[in-house]
Amino acid sequence: MKIFYTLLLTLSFSFGFEYNLKPQKVTEGVYCFFGKLENINKQNAGNMVNTCFIQTKEGFIVIDSGPTYAYAQQAYTQMQNIAKLPVKYVINTHDHDDHWLGNSFYKSKGALLIGSKTYEQNVFEGMQTRMHRVLGDRLYQNTKIVTLDRVIDTAYTFKVGEENIEIKKLVKQGHTQGDLIVFLPSKRTIFVGDLVFNGRLTSLRDGSLMGSIEALEKIDAYDAKYIIAGHGFNTDKNATKALKTYLLEIKEKVQKALDEDIGMEEITKKVPMLAYEKMKLYDVLHKNNVLDAYKELEMIEEDEDEE
Ligand SMILES: [Zn+2]
Repeated sequence: MKIFYTLLLTLSFSFGFEYNLKPQKVTEGVYCFFGKLENINKQNAGNMVNTCFIQTKEGFIVIDSGPTYAYAQQAYTQMQNIAKLPVKYVINTHDHDDHWLGNSFYKSKGALLIGSKTYEQNVFEGMQTRMHRVLGDRLYQNTKIVTLDRVIDTAYTFKVGEENIEIKKLVKQGHTQGDLIVFLPSKRTIFVGDLVFNGRLTSLRDGSLMGSIEALEKIDAYDAKYIIAGHGFNTDKNATKALKTYLLEIKEKVQKALDEDIGMEEITKKVPMLAYEKMKLYDVLHKNNVLDAYKELEMIEEDEDEE
């Protein structure tokens, strides 16, 4: 018996983490693996992000490659169960590492990697990723950093099989300084990366409050039937609503506090927004979002005063 368990342990070590990925069909030819509404930890091994794939006659297009090599490998196995087709392209929506660390696996399968300028600027071989730091060597094994084959600055449209794929950068700074959306006109489906979260709070850490609101308006203007977020399970046309309401409320309350000369030390106490207290990751992210919003709105005020 003891030998059996030792063997089992050795096997699970050599195979790495079992993600149990199950593709969910969003609409004909569009599938996603929906991640947990959590931060990265050893128990989820980074499976806290949504990754998707589009099936065409010629092959698959993957939108975000996920948190590790093992994740991408297991996602690929699931895709092959749907159709024995190659992965032609992988599009990375932005440079946060939960969205692209599966790239090296897809590259080894011959896929071309497409991403934004900020990936090229911020991602380099030998860098220590947040994912590696949290997961440790074993869960991260085989995960490598690879360069992109095509870098998108503003927009790029191309065809795979029968599908037109439109990639676009909507705003200067939204969730990051290089968020790309992927629009699939034939299915009225838009993949928006972390410009949209639902079911959990966003982080404004690398982003902009005003830019995020502008991006959400532009996303809604597509009038898409399916809006697929980087995090969250809601994929209908109202998928932007929760985040939009949250950001507009931050904007209004922080602006009011600024008008009343409330200082930075007090601002998080003044804008607790307790209606969101039960929302996932409120404890970790809300205070910092208020602080980031405060700094941004204060800066806008200063700029306006100078004019
Ligand atoms: Zn993310």
